[in-house]
Amino acid sequence: MTVPDPDQQRAGEPLRVAVIGSGPAGIYAADALIRQSRVPVRVDVMDRLPTPYGLVRYGVAPDHTKIKGVARALRKVLEHPHVRFVGGVEFGAALTRAHLARTHHAVVYATGASVDRRLGVPGEDLPGSVAATDFVNWYCGHPDSELERFVLGAEEVAVVGAGNVALDVARILVKTADELRHTDIPQPVLEALAASSVRVVHLLARRGPLQAKFTAPELRDLLALPDVDVVVSAEQVDIDPADVGGPAPEVHQVARAARTNLRLLSDQARRAPRGCARSVRLHFWVRPEEILGTDRVTGVRLEHTRLDPDGHLAGTGQTTLLDVGMVLRSVGYAGVPLPGVPFDPVERTVPQEAGRVLDTAGRPVPGDYVAGWIKRGATGVIGTNKSDAAGTVRSLLDDAPTLRSGAPDLVPLEALLDELGIGHSGYGDWLRIDSAEAEQAERLDRGERVKLHGWGAYREVIEGG
Ligand code: NAP
Repeated sequence: MTVPDPDQQRAGEPLRVAVIGSGPAGIYAADALIRQSRVPVRVDVMDRLPTPYGLVRYGVAPDHTKIKGVARALRKVLEHPHVRFVGGVEFGAALTRAHLARTHHAVVYATGASVDRRLGVPGEDLPGSVAATDFVNWYCGHPDSELERFVLGAEEVAVVGAGNVALDVARILVKTADELRHTDIPQPVLEALAASSVRVVHLLARRGPLQAKFTAPELRDLLALPDVDVVVSAEQVDIDPADVGGPAPEVHQVARAARTNLRLLSDQARRAPRGCARSVRLHFWVRPEEILGTDRVTGVRLEHTRLDPDGHLAGTGQTTLLDVGMVLRSVGYAGVPLPGVPFDPVERTVPQEAGRVLDTAGRPVPGDYVAGWIKRGATGVIGTNKSDAAGTVRSLLDDAPTLRSGAPDLVPLEALLDELGIGHSGYGDWLRIDSAEAEQAERLDRGERVKLHGWGAYREVIEGG
């Protein structure tokens, strides 16, 4: 009689994978897992929130409905019979990596980059100096954000940074409430924006128009606003398009996009302001030296900048004062360490090679993988996460035989969560929130969806269901 080989027996069983984070990176990882036929899989996509889609729901600007449409594709993945959405479970709190070793063969961390990078200048923490992440969370209705968080009482606001988030933030500040009423912005946020005193938004870029990180579609969106003057000084855009600056490899990558931006900005510089009630003024070659004020922000002292011959940013020593009542710092997002998972505090990412998490000695941590912004930093568009996650999943599938052979008999995730006393929600609960948001939009006569806001509102819908 032949004794069955336990490894061979296990080879027929599905590989159980926990994905931590249900943003685009996490869901694209689940998608790559279910699309292949090499290894049978079951995927649990877990999230701290009872709502899936991460930055698609809580980061993409509410008026970017086309980008938000990605959620329709992501939804199909969550509805696949071999994928399960488990909401309301925070990894690293009551549920640790050691616990997941009892339920899954592998874990993919896809927790994104949820906090702001700091400017590191005096006055940064004054009331009225706000991280763009906080402002974005507020207008996207993130349940951790307080509805009363922003009273937009300042007439002039500075937005620091020249990335796409800076453009999002500036655009939301200058659009009229009428232009935003058909978006999913929570009703109290829409009311606060309607009561806003903001008239001028100064966008502060520490380098020039050819080095700005924002992309042409987002710049066009800003320039197309019907009731807003976008003011660009002809002097600042009067440059040779070949003069991209920076180290040579960067020049090739960015040159085309940079020249498109320059062309759009040069065209705009030739247009006379139309006397609109609101304006966005672009200032290149300035960086905040200090945010001014005693009880709250009253202004910002800017140092003028230039590129040195090696293409590095340098201060000129010359300064300018700008009177503003609010400063929004939009200088990039950073990852947050996950308990028990290696972390690079400088890059603010999880160290990895081909998606395999590496320990401090540079060795792969068995069963641990990483995808998305927590893997490569806060760069790229939503679609970038698809190929990124696919790369991680290739490594995971290559490791599948080892992952299975070393594993104990696994227990179902629900059994573990029950044993640990961790409450959780499911995909059906999210669908109830989804319907409640659609009903709210109908009641308020506003678009397809108006976001519910706050943990209490989510709980009410889930418990009421
Ligand atoms: P980002 O693209 O990295 O832009 C950050 C900006 O902040 C840059 O202009 C950077 O200037 C500036 N900056 C950094 N440190 C600074 C400092 N100490 N002082 C002054 N300025 C400073 O970051 P992001 O705007 O947060 O966007 C994150 C990612 O999301 C990007 O990949 C972006 O394209 C993507 N996104 C896409 C969309 C869309 O597709 N619609 C919308 C939003 C976000 P330097 O270039 O000089 O470093």
